[in-house]
Amino acid sequence: PLVLGIESSCDETGIALVRGNTLLADAVASSVDEHARFGGVVPEVASRAHLEAVVPMLTRACAEAGHALRDIDAVAVTSGPGLAGALMVGVSAAKALSWALDKPLYGVNHLAAHVCADVLDHGPLPEPTVALLVSGGHTNLLLVRDIAVEVHELGGTVDDAAGEAFDKVARVLNLPYPGGPHIDRVAAEGDPRAIRFPRGLTAGKDMERHRFDFSFSGLKTSVVRWVEACERDGRPVPVADVAASFREAVVDVLTRKAIDACKVHGINDLQIGGGVTANTRLRALAEERCAQAGISLRVPQIRLCTDNGAMVAALGSQMVQRGVSPSSLDLPADSSMPVSQVRAG
Ligand code: ATP
Ligand code: MG
Ligand code: FE
Repeated sequence: PLVLGIESSCDETGIALVRGNTLLADAVASSVDEHARFGGVVPEVASRAHLEAVVPMLTRACAEAGHALRDIDAVAVTSGPGLAGALMVGVSAAKALSWALDKPLYGVNHLAAHVCADVLDHGPLPEPTVALLVSGGHTNLLLVRDIAVEVHELGGTVDDAAGEAFDKVARVLNLPYPGGPHIDRVAAEGDPRAIRFPRGLTAGKDMERHRFDFSFSGLKTSVVRWVEACERDGRPVPVADVAASFREAVVDVLTRKAIDACKVHGINDLQIGGGVTANTRLRALAEERCAQAGISLRVPQIRLCTDNGAMVAALGSQMVQRGVSPSSLDLPADSSMPVSQVRAG
């Protein structure tokens, strides 16, 4: 079946077509430049940009795939979590298409879709698998029994998400928004051992209660203090070393806890997804540590890691293939949809 996927949870309008696990077209428009001068996504600006982009992206995706709207067998859309007004645009478009074409509608979880993106690169997920989801708004360890039906949350962040920490630290270092890719670039010139930044929730007593949880706000504060101390003493801030040491601290914790989760649950497969998966050091260290631990690692190509319609179509396609019942036409835009809820009602 040919599945259309629509993504509009944040600042990317993504529309894609997938057949089985094959990506046929993936059109993405981003309003990121419009938010840059505010240092973060402005919800009203994002919603308006989605309204303007949704029809052009639909047209582009169909043209790219060489398909007409009537060829579509099912419509999948991000139901949540995300910005309410932004989600509403995609959900409304999906409902209209589903109704007009008389095809089933699947409201899917954006976070499960991030994890599912990899099927387009490497085929069906090994199940069960442990998944590490690292994005702008979320950081979770998940136990995936069936990506279309059953996902359990092993842990999450108690404060900032990993991507959020990257963006905040970038701001302190005067790097442009969004900061993740800039920190990654600058860090390549720095020494990751120059400064020993804290590894949140990895000490013995924290591990007892928060084994698979994350905390990045202490790390962020520690970077801020360090930069302030430089400025107070009139020393230049060694931006590359700070970026490299910060990145190392984040990635060290993410990979350690992910591998620990695999060991505790006796699972030898780790899937990584979400925008922060674009991080070069995360990819390298995960590879190194998984190889040591005998865990097989799956990470999608970078363009599938950040927000797009392809991952939404991929998850919708899994639902169709596994006979999951469709959502109703009054499915909500659910800004706080829990990560363990794969499909909207
Ligand atoms: P969510 O998926 O939680 O709703 P989101 O959709 O805004 O949030 P994504 O698009 O998945 O998030 O990811 C964006 C985040 O990824 C930003 O915080 C960005 O800084 C971060 N990011 C992108 N590339 C890199 C990189 N190379 N290194 C670190 N972080 C990165
Ligand atoms: Mg974005
Ligand atoms: Fe995302």
